[in-house]
Amino acid sequence: MPTKLGQNFLKDNSVIGKIIAAANLRPNDFVIEIGPGKGILTEKLAEKAGKVSAIEIDRNLVEFLRNKFKDKKNIEIINADILKINLPELLGNQMSQYKIVANIPYYITSPIIRLFLEQKLQPEKMILMIQKEVAERIVAKPGEMSILAVAVQHYADSKILFDVPKTAFEPAPKVDSAVIEITPQKIFDKEKDARFFRIVRAGFSGKRKTLLNNFSASFHLDKKEAEEKLKTAGINPTVRAQELSLEDWKNLTKIFSNSEK
Ligand code: SAM
Repeated sequence: MPTKLGQNFLKDNSVIGKIIAAANLRPNDFVIEIGPGKGILTEKLAEKAGKVSAIEIDRNLVEFLRNKFKDKKNIEIINADILKINLPELLGNQMSQYKIVANIPYYITSPIIRLFLEQKLQPEKMILMIQKEVAERIVAKPGEMSILAVAVQHYADSKILFDVPKTAFEPAPKVDSAVIEITPQKIFDKEKDARFFRIVRAGFSGKRKTLLNNFSASFHLDKKEAEEKLKTAGINPTVRAQELSLEDWKNLTKIFSNSEK
């Protein structure tokens, strides 16, 4: 029953040590942890960072954690759904820079990553335990791109740091895991980014269809016109969205933005 909330607790101290090392914490760092569970990672984070705010949805765990850390002044346990939290308020009271370090609930991996990349104040970096297959999709290259890959790569540099076996968790999850480092490089720009992602979504709209078909359908252009625009952007009209690089999407945004209805 608990796995409904993605409750697979880490039990392998060597994995925790590697996550802490990757976070490269300084004494005045502010860390946000999503889903502290029973606090195994929280405790180690708080030994190195200035402050840890841990956001946990499960009330029973919150009670357990508040009791466990009642003497730790630099740990704050917040009972909330990470996707509903008022992030500017949480960050507003803190130091300006922050890091996310967490073994997150896998069922909301994309919304969590998106939430933090689409902030005026993005994290300095995110060290996240996620499903291995999703980590591989995030760092994909042209040929295997997806909306998720374009979205994360648009804002950040990402690399998979190491794989984590199922045996590192209790209970063991059904899927393999990996720890990924996501370092934002580009600040969030509401209007420009919305335009960019409208183009990306149009490109990926029909799964196995060519860009030509997807763009002409999405923007109600006749084929000839759509073909011209793709060629102007330097793109072969018969390719599929997964073949394109980030640079290609930027060029397409310049050319197709005027066609939006
Ligand atoms: N960090 C702990 C560890 O490594 O042992 C637990 C990790 S477990 C994979 C994910 C945690 O996220 C669980 O404690 C779960 O209750 C919590 N969680 C699930 N959905 C959440 C949400 N929407 N907001 C905040 N926490 C959530």
